[in-house]
Amino acid sequence: MRERAVLPKDYNPKAVEPKWQEFWEREGIYRFDWEDRERPVFAIDTPPPYPSGEFHMGNVLNWTYFDVVARYKRMRGYNVHFPQGWDCHGLPTEVRVEQKHGITKTQVPPDEFRRLCVEFVEENIKAMKEAIKRLGYSIDWSLEYKTMDPDYWRRTQLSFVILYRKGYIYRAQHPVNWCPRCGTAIADAEVEYETRTDKLYYVRFKLAGEGGRYLTIATTRPELIPACVAAAVHPEDERYRAYVGRELVVPLVGRRVRIFADDMVDPEFGTGVVMICTYGDKEDVRFVARHGLSVITIVGEDGRMTEQAGKYAGLTIEEARRAIVEDLKAAGLLEREEPIAHEVGTCWRCHTPVEILVREQWFMRVRDLTDKVVEKALKEIKWYPDYMKWRLVDWARSLDWDWVISRQRVFATPIPVWYCARCGHVIVAEPDWLPVDPRLEPPKLEACPKCGCREFKPETDVLDTWFDSSITCAVHAGWPDRPDWRRLFPSDLHPSGYDIIRTWAYYLMVRHLALFDEVPFKACLINGMVLGTDGRMMHKSYGNYVPASEPIERYGADATRWWAIAGGATGSDVPFRWEEVRHGWRFLRKLWNAARFVHMQLADYEPGGPAPELSLVDRWLLSKLAKTIMVVTEALEECRFNTALLAIRDFTWHVLCDQYIEAVKHRLYNPDKYGEEARRAAQHTLYRALYSVVQMLAPFCPHITEEIYQALFRPFEGHRSVHISPWPRPPKGFPDEEAEKAGDVVITLIRAVRREKARRRMALSAPLKAIRVFAPEKWQAEAIEACRSDILGTCKAGELEVRVGEGEGMEVEGYPGLKFRIEV
Ligand SMILES: [Zn+2]
Ligand SMILES: [Zn+2]
Repeated sequence: MRERAVLPKDYNPKAVEPKWQEFWEREGIYRFDWEDRERPVFAIDTPPPYPSGEFHMGNVLNWTYFDVVARYKRMRGYNVHFPQGWDCHGLPTEVRVEQKHGITKTQVPPDEFRRLCVEFVEENIKAMKEAIKRLGYSIDWSLEYKTMDPDYWRRTQLSFVILYRKGYIYRAQHPVNWCPRCGTAIADAEVEYETRTDKLYYVRFKLAGEGGRYLTIATTRPELIPACVAAAVHPEDERYRAYVGRELVVPLVGRRVRIFADDMVDPEFGTGVVMICTYGDKEDVRFVARHGLSVITIVGEDGRMTEQAGKYAGLTIEEARRAIVEDLKAAGLLEREEPIAHEVGTCWRCHTPVEILVREQWFMRVRDLTDKVVEKALKEIKWYPDYMKWRLVDWARSLDWDWVISRQRVFATPIPVWYCARCGHVIVAEPDWLPVDPRLEPPKLEACPKCGCREFKPETDVLDTWFDSSITCAVHAGWPDRPDWRRLFPSDLHPSGYDIIRTWAYYLMVRHLALFDEVPFKACLINGMVLGTDGRMMHKSYGNYVPASEPIERYGADATRWWAIAGGATGSDVPFRWEEVRHGWRFLRKLWNAARFVHMQLADYEPGGPAPELSLVDRWLLSKLAKTIMVVTEALEECRFNTALLAIRDFTWHVLCDQYIEAVKHRLYNPDKYGEEARRAAQHTLYRALYSVVQMLAPFCPHITEEIYQALFRPFEGHRSVHISPWPRPPKGFPDEEAEKAGDVVITLIRAVRREKARRRMALSAPLKAIRVFAPEKWQAEAIEACRSDILGTCKAGELEVRVGEGEGMEVEGYPGLKFRIEV
């Protein structure tokens, strides 16, 4: 007999979970094997989170999904590549550092600011890594990276150089979304729309050369009046047809502007006449371009009015609005004002309304790729769930500007570019100069190739942080250093929340298509958002926030992961519910008790050797097991995680524990009465069923399953960990439909007899004199007859009489006409 560990009475996740986490790391259970050429690889494009310092419930949902996939694939025989990175750069980090130290980026030298950012990021990574380890995610930590490391920005910069050479990157004067608080350009994807209540001002614009006649224009942005360059009406608006081509006098500044007819004008808005300012919104940008109008820039990069705003120069936007409204009133040009609820574009980080400014910026030519993105997203990529593909397609099709990739910030990957001080010639770094910070190092050139000048000015703008994280698929694979990087590219799985499909999934697509003319990933696994117990998005400011550490502390990592999977279908929003965590916890304890029972009953059992002859009840269980394995496997292949988990739960709890174990206890306890072979058959069946349950549950609840595996199964199965054991298959010869059909009758009859005992307030162990059964169908009688000893043993009955035909008694639920009587 082999030495086996003892399972304590209570399952204690606080002791068990860290023990196995250390074991997995020490034993390298999750290491990707670079040398292995046998097993197929499976590459996961793990999201590098922004190091906020907190691994929140949304992260738990996201990571649990793809950790389940990683663990499942490992058990299916794949060499799984599961890295973890950190997306360090960018506005979120900078804004937090500014808040923490009460500074703005311009108040400390750039080097000092960078140092504060790095310090902040390192601290936060430490805290988040702790949480990731505590949840038992099967990451290969030897593959960890940070986007702020020079070795990572070497790759980001290389991708910039390649795309510049391919013509995908250009520098131009173009209007961009601008956050005046953050002092930087931001991309369309970083503009969030909020409904705000503002005022709509009705302002009189005099008709040029018409004495006192005027048209009234309604606007929410009177402060932009000094930048008014045109007015417009809808071409079919009868009210204004006569005015098209004539001129208006811009109030307060006296400039004359023309009235255009343009079908972008909504005749229902305000009075039907609109002013075109440079720039109030994207419509203005299109209008100005279409009609070749000149641009008057009155809002500066700092959000204050420029010299071009005349007497309003230097005022903030709010101050200018108040001053202009006062001046309009004084001049008798403000007809009225009324409240209006409208959509305002705001900065995703600080929620300041964005302005549209024209500034020299770097762009990536993404709109040229739209057709390709759409085609590949629909034809080459598998989406879980399928309908999520439309989020990417609709976004790609909606873009009307290229991606602005330069930022006027500090903590980011430098743009590897210099300019000739004399002629302005653009010098883009050579690949072998990288990584380089042009602000600290000159180009490796003697002189400007165009004019011979020996002086250069560095590009001080930096790259959008999405420019770092949008090459993860290639970087994870080892690009550009590993000659065999294509082995891991495209990634097999890209997991993400649906809220960042338009950023992360989209940018990954355009970047890899432009760089390699290939999609970055073969499949996209999408998770929903986590809602608070009140049904709203979980958010600190709503008072419905639960930190991930709380359920882990109270019920352990496995129960917390249970919530993430059982809480809802893949892709749907999942409410956080303590009840779900507790349900998971109760299930785990049920499993633990079953494992302890099996452990004790199998003390003298060794698998292998000639198979014992199985009873109908044993075959019934193995058939149910086979079907469960099939359902779980199919669900996992399609990333329907909750379907898989609930099938495991139902089988374990209701079939194995509540029915089968109860129906074979008499055999296990009394081999002298029921025979050694019958006992061995029950042991064999229990071993097989529990081992499969533990294996199927392992991707979801990795700790308790490892604990049980190591104690009960490792001595015989030999795999170092349940997580590298081969995925279970249905037992040979199963499912067996006949055994299942017959077994169902028997199990249902046993349950009915036990219920009847309970109804009569008898102990379940109380002896019965006899059970008399009347079966309307012959096969039912045969099934019951075949299980005679299991029925007698389980019901503690002295006699079992089975007759085909009608009789008097209680009806067995689900079997019309099948009746029984018990005699005490
Ligand atoms: Zn901002
Ligand atoms: Zn030059």
